[in-house]
Amino acid sequence: MSETVYEAVPEVESDEPPHVGTLVMKFGGTSVADPEKIRRVATRLVAAKRAGGRVVAVVSAMGQHTDELVALAHEVSPRPKPRELDMLISVGERVSCALVAMAISDLGQDAISLTGSQAGIVTDTVHGKAKIVEVRAARIHDALDEDRIVLVAGFQGVSTQYDITTLGRGGSDTTAVALAAALGADACEIYTDVDGVFTADPRIVPDARKLHAVSYEEMLEMAASGARVLALRSVEFARNHGVKLHVRSTFTEESGTWITEEDERMLEKAMISGVTHTLEEAVYRVEGVDRAELFSALADAPVSVDTIIQTDGPILFSAPLEDRDETAAVLDRLGATWNERDGLGKVSVIGAGMKSHPGIAARTFATLRDLGLEPQLVATSPIKIAFYVPHDDVERAVKGLHEAFELSSAEAERAHE
Ligand code: ASP
Ligand code: MG
Repeated sequence: MSETVYEAVPEVESDEPPHVGTLVMKFGGTSVADPEKIRRVATRLVAAKRAGGRVVAVVSAMGQHTDELVALAHEVSPRPKPRELDMLISVGERVSCALVAMAISDLGQDAISLTGSQAGIVTDTVHGKAKIVEVRAARIHDALDEDRIVLVAGFQGVSTQYDITTLGRGGSDTTAVALAAALGADACEIYTDVDGVFTADPRIVPDARKLHAVSYEEMLEMAASGARVLALRSVEFARNHGVKLHVRSTFTEESGTWITEEDERMLEKAMISGVTHTLEEAVYRVEGVDRAELFSALADAPVSVDTIIQTDGPILFSAPLEDRDETAAVLDRLGATWNERDGLGKVSVIGAGMKSHPGIAARTFATLRDLGLEPQLVATSPIKIAFYVPHDDVERAVKGLHEAFELSSAEAERAHE
């Protein structure tokens, strides 16, 4: 059994009723990587505004700016204090949103940039992976009422203790979805450097299809198991608040992938939405501790445990690679006997249709057998079958399963409307 933990629903009510025609548009780091691209984003925002919408834009830091700031911190200090690190890395999004606001003004449209804190994004006090607890959107509403485009620095907020916090890597997606929920926006558009969500990573499977529609549950599983197009937490937030997401390319006008409530047509067209993978996973094998104690200590760390394998003997679980130090510290503190198995990657077959169609597991394992692959640990949820294989076998497994479930066919796209 594996479990996907859903985030608690934060308070995002505002004093104002939702306005029809509000659109939140989020642009990722590659979309604002240089001055020319920034001007293009500005043009796109102005076009959306002139088409009659109330437009709120969330931008990520330019290109690799966040990575550079993190590296800089580590050049200065071996262990930067989390509060100061947040103060530093939140700057990237302030830079990009101020620049986009300038470019919009040059196009003759009024715009204002706001930090997360000015935009009313209130978080808990966990530096580096803060959770939004409330959105006080009054200032955004005022600016929209004044006919401005509002730029909000993504990835950050202000804590209940008045410190600057960041929301975890990829957190601008979460900012955008939280604002869409708080403002009652019609949709939240996520502009990125790919055309949408694919049936598999196109770098591994060249004939992977762009999905027209994916359910929140499927997208949650996909984001949790290697699809990097959306931050996991943003999908949890969208699901909890019913925010319609549209993942699409910054560089074309084409429509991308819609993430919405599950709908019959998704299931009719294709039971499986995709095959995702991660190349490196940290899998821990633990003995000599109480299960409940272990998982509560990990939760407090906070380490978000992904897959838990129940056996009679040792406890097996996986956790994000970036939480390796925290995980080791927890295990040592509890006096556990443990080791980490490395060299494993994870492959997941995901699809809402599994709930009503038996035989998906059978086909998965038959395919692996025919490929001569032996899955090492298997974890399932009602809409997912995931397993671990040695790193070098991941690609073959992904390709083989993509073919076995006919995900290169037009039906796999689930096009409708
Ligand atoms: N700039 C931040 C990061 O690189 C947040 C984001 O891009 O969403 O993780
Ligand atoms: Mg991202």
